[in-house]
This record gives sequence, C-alpha cells and structure tokens, in this order.
Amino acid sequence: MASHGASTLDMNLNPAQAVDSLQKIYRKYTSRKFFAMLQACVHCGLCAEACHYYCSEKKSDFIPANRIKRLAAVINEYFHPLKSKLPFFTPGNPLTNPKFDGLYKAAFENCTLCGKCALICPMGINTGEIMYLARALLFGLGRIPSGLIGPVQTTLTTGNYLGLSGEDFIETVEWIAEEMAEDMGAGFTIPIDKEQPQVLYIPHPLTLRDLPFLLMSELKILAAAGEDYTLSTHDFDVVNYAFYQGSKENAFQIANTTLQAREKLQAKSIALAPCGHGYRILRWEVEKMLGEKHNFPIYSLVELIDRYIQDGRLKLEKDKFEGPITYHDPCNIARRGGIIQQPRNVIKALTSNFVEMEPYGVHNFCCGGGGGLASTADFGKIRATMGKAKAEQIRKTGAKIVVTGCFNCKTQIRDIGQNYDLGIEVKSIVEVVADSIR
Ligand code: SF4
Ligand code: SF4
Repeated sequence: MASHGASTLDMNLNPAQAVDSLQKIYRKYTSRKFFAMLQACVHCGLCAEACHYYCSEKKSDFIPANRIKRLAAVINEYFHPLKSKLPFFTPGNPLTNPKFDGLYKAAFENCTLCGKCALICPMGINTGEIMYLARALLFGLGRIPSGLIGPVQTTLTTGNYLGLSGEDFIETVEWIAEEMAEDMGAGFTIPIDKEQPQVLYIPHPLTLRDLPFLLMSELKILAAAGEDYTLSTHDFDVVNYAFYQGSKENAFQIANTTLQAREKLQAKSIALAPCGHGYRILRWEVEKMLGEKHNFPIYSLVELIDRYIQDGRLKLEKDKFEGPITYHDPCNIARRGGIIQQPRNVIKALTSNFVEMEPYGVHNFCCGGGGGLASTADFGKIRATMGKAKAEQIRKTGAKIVVTGCFNCKTQIRDIGQNYDLGIEVKSIVEVVADSIR
C-alpha cells in the first residue's frame, strides 16, 4: 500500500475502520474557516511564485492551489454533504485508493507547511493549513513518513526523541561543565532542576549527544549574561515532530512535558534552544489547543540574547567573523512567530558587514527542510532540489557566512550549500554570539 517513502503506523485497520477514522479526524480538524478557504480559490495563480517548490522547479504539481485540489478530491469522495447521505453511494476503500497516494505526496513530500503562499493569496487561502488537514487524515490511515514515526514514538515513551536516559543527561551536562570550566573559571557549574529560576532552558537533545559545542555556546551565553536559569531532568527536548505527523494529540502530549517541567520547578519562564517548530508549537500552537494564553513567557533563546545586549548584560566584540554575513529567517520563528528584528539586532551587534536576502523576514523563502522533511532520509533528494530557491537567494547576497536560528534550517542550508557549491559556512546564531563574547 505504502509508496513514495510512506511508512505505516501499525494500525491494522480494515476498510470500514479506515473510513471511520477519516470521518472522526475530518469532524475534529475542520472549521468554517477551513471550508471557506477550500471554496475560495479564484485560480489567479499568484501563489505559484510564493512557493519555493515552484520557484525551484516549474511543475504544476508545485502550485499551491493544485495541492488543494488533491485534498478536495478526497473530501468530495468521503465527506460530500449530499453524496454521503445517499444509501447507494459507498466511498472507495481508503487503504487502496490511489487518491491518497497523490495526497501523501502533496502533503508530506511537496509542502513544508511554511505558510508563505498564504501571504500572497488575495482570497486569504492558507495552503499550509489545508495541507495540515491532509496530513491529519493520512495519519488517521497510518500513512506517514518513516522519519516521523520512530522519533515520535521514542519521545512518547522516553521523553526525548533520541531516547536518552536521565542518567545520560546528567552525565553529559557534568562533563560539559568540566569542559567549560577551563574557559569560564573553576567554580563554573550548570544548574539542573533548580527550583524557582527565572528561566527553564530546554535544549535540543542532539546537542547533548552529538553536538556539545552548540550546547556549550548556549550555556556560555546564559552564564555570561548572569541569567538565573536551570536545565531539567524533567524535560530536555525542544523537538516535537508529532505536530508534523498531523497529530495534534501527540504534539500536545509532548509539549505538555515541558509545561509540566516548568510547573514542577516553578520556573518564571521557558526559553527554548534554536528550533523553529519546537518554538512554534510550544509558544503558539499549544495556546490554540488549550484555548487559553500561557500565563508565563516562552522565549526562543534569540529573544533573550537580544534583550541581554540591549540591557548591557552581554557585550560582544565586533567583526570577529569576516563577512559578509546574512541571516536565514526560519519560517516558524519569523513568519509564524514574529521574531524578525531580534536576530538582526544581535547579528548587527557583532558584524558591520550584514547583508539581507531578498525577500527576507515574513516573506523569506523556506529553506526546503521544514515541515518534518529534514527528519526523513527518503526526502533527501527532494530537499536538495527544492533548496534551489534558497540557494539562489543566498548566492545573490555574496555572503560568506549564513547564520540561522533553527537546527533543521542549519542542516538543510549546509546541505544546499554543498549541493549548489555556494562556498558558505553555516552557523547557528548561538555560535556566532558565544564566539564574540568579550
Ligand atoms: S505552505 Fe509553503 S511549501 Fe506549502 S504550498 Fe505554501 S509556499 Fe509551498
Ligand atoms: S493565490 Fe489563492 S486564489 Fe490565487 S490560485 Fe493561489 S490559492 Fe487560488
């Protein structure tokens, strides 16, 4: 049944159960706004040039409006308000219906849910949101990419997507503290499970296992600014791939671990390691899921860094890095999170040779690694091809260094830098800041 790199959750549905599963998800995830969007397209074609897929390869499948048609065909067959009431009308078996092959490609492979096309559509159609319903329906059939199955299952059972134990975490942090003491001074420690701190800091687990220099950069910044922070054994994973599965239930369960960790420690705020989707989900999507606002602040670390610099808590040496330096706005941090000026303030504090990509900020192109595509090896080729629009943007800046504030964007831009021979270095914003601290 599965194709195009699709894997299956072990659901063992029969056709009737599969239809039932689709019906439940459809009822749960649709709204008046959604139906209005689905009907509103005037076929103007403006969304084509907004999408990095179409800009990278001029295929009609890559026009956002055409992705919507894939979903409309499924809705027409399974949820049509009149047809579904006719006794002689039976929808096809969704487990074998090729319409779902097309929908899988449109929703998981050919859309990163970046939201850029929504800004250009005169009818207010948000293809990313519409494709999210497509992902939810496919999740209901157990059809999701392999890279979005294992990591989520591991997170749901162990609390982090790499399956690190609490002992692994403590051992690594103690080792990092010893290493950092050489630079920071003999009394340097890293607080773990400290109660009532100003900031509960949630790292990316890959920095604990494979990339400790990144975590060291983050902790160096917090320490240099004199922040009252803690790490926690209750949660040390900013990642939340469940959202990209199309399962808000799984996403909430994972995000709730962070909320509970804050509650246990009575932290005044949460700060998140550079991770676009992790920030979006905890800061914005969870509020929508809960139907209420958080009564404490949630920051991406770059917001704190900007504040430290403005308040004189962090002093940076200028031009330690040879420019030109450009900044890639991660979609979930900038377009969907509103964090646009802060990283620019930070970078301009450490270089006099900053250049913008065109377009940038809310209108920036997705790097091609969003939407969970970076987590599935099967999507390597499509990521490389669809990174062309971003590669051209970068090339035009003449930048030697591309800075970004998201782990997946960093990986994807490093890959496209090699694929398109851009001759660039790609750095996390925490690296350039930590290395510029006076
Ligand atoms: S959300 Fe992004 S990737 Fe998806 S169709 Fe729109 S512009 Fe293209
Ligand atoms: S911009 Fe909006 S109205 Fe125009 S083709 Fe795209 S989705 Fe349809």
